[in-house]
Amino acid sequence: MEFRLIDRIRERTTLAREDVRLGIGDDAAVLAVPTGQELAVAIDTLVEGVHFPLGTSPRDIGWKALAVNLSDLAAMGAAPAWALLALTLPQADPVRVDGLVDGFAQLAREHDVALVGGDTTRGPFCLSVAVHGFVPAGQALIRGGARAGDAVFVTGTLGSAAGGLRLAQGVVPFDPGDEAHRDLRARLDRPTPRVRAGLALRGHASACIDVSDGLLADLGHICAASGVGAELDPDTLPLSPALRGVFGNAAARELALAGGDDYELCFTVPGDAVGAMQAALATVGVRATRIGMIVEGAGICAAGGAPLASTGGGWDHFRA
Ligand code: ADP
Ligand code: MG
Repeated sequence: MEFRLIDRIRERTTLAREDVRLGIGDDAAVLAVPTGQELAVAIDTLVEGVHFPLGTSPRDIGWKALAVNLSDLAAMGAAPAWALLALTLPQADPVRVDGLVDGFAQLAREHDVALVGGDTTRGPFCLSVAVHGFVPAGQALIRGGARAGDAVFVTGTLGSAAGGLRLAQGVVPFDPGDEAHRDLRARLDRPTPRVRAGLALRGHASACIDVSDGLLADLGHICAASGVGAELDPDTLPLSPALRGVFGNAAARELALAGGDDYELCFTVPGDAVGAMQAALATVGVRATRIGMIVEGAGICAAGGAPLASTGGGWDHFRA
C-alpha cells in the first residue's frame, strides 16, 4: 500500500526547483544550498483533537500542517524551499491522502516549496512536516535581539483563530450562514503564514517570533530571550471586525492577548528603523500595528506598569 500512496503523493505535489537534485523516490533527497545562504529548518507535528478540531477537512489539515511550519521560517526571515512530510494513517485511505496532499500542495505552490521526501506509516492519524529555508548568512531574525526602547509590532489581526476555535468547540454555536463565523473558522483552519513579511523584516526587526501560542506567551519568549520586558497598550491590539462582532470588544481583546494559532508575526524595531520597516512591509502589502514598547526589566505589563486585564498565559488557557 505504501508505494502506491507515495506515488500518489508525488504526482499531486510536483513542483520543479533547480536546487532539488534528487527528490522523492530514493533513500534520501539530495539538495543544493545556494552559496552564501544559511539553512533554517523547522518541524511541527499536528495531532487530531490537539492541533485541529475533530472533523476538520483533510484539505485544511494538509494546508495547516505546512502553514505552521512556513510561519516558523517567516519568523526567522527565511525563504522557504523544501519540505518533508511524515504521514501516519490507520489505513491506506486514498481519499483522505488526496485531500491532505492537495491542501498541502496548494500552499506549497504559493510559496514555491518542493516536497522532497517523507515517510508513510500505519498507526493513529498524525502528520509531521519539516521545512527548510534559506537566509543570507548572519541575517536570520532571532528572538534575542530586542532592546529597551524598541517598538513592538504585530502583523494583521490577533485573536481570530482563538475565536474560530471557540466556534468549533461550540462555546458559541457555529452558524454556517454567518459570514463573521465563517471568517473566524477560516482563520483557525487556513492560517496565512507571513512569509513575505518575514523576508521584508530582515535588516529592520531587532527580534521576531510567530504568534502560535498567543501574544503574551510569544512576546514573553522574545522578552526572555532578549533579557528585557514589554509594555503593551491593550487599546491598540488589532482586532478583526468579525472577532469584535461575534465576541464583543472585551472578550475579543482577551482572545487577542491569550489565544493562539494566529500565525501573525510579532517583532521589535529600534525607533529609528520604524519608517524603513513600514515602507518594507508596504511593498509586500502587509500592515503592522504598533502595540507597545520594550522596556528594561522582565515580563509584560500594560503601559505605565499596570497589570494586563488577561486571565490567561497563552494557548493552554483556551484548551481547559
Ligand atoms: P525508506 O524505506 O528508504 O525510508 P520509503 O519507502 O519510506 O523509503 O520512502 C520511499 C521514498 O518516498 C523516499 O524518497 C521518501 O522520502 C518518499 N516518501 C515516503 N513517504 C512520503 C510522504 N508521505 N511524502 C513524501 N515523500 C514520501
Ligand atoms: Mg522510510
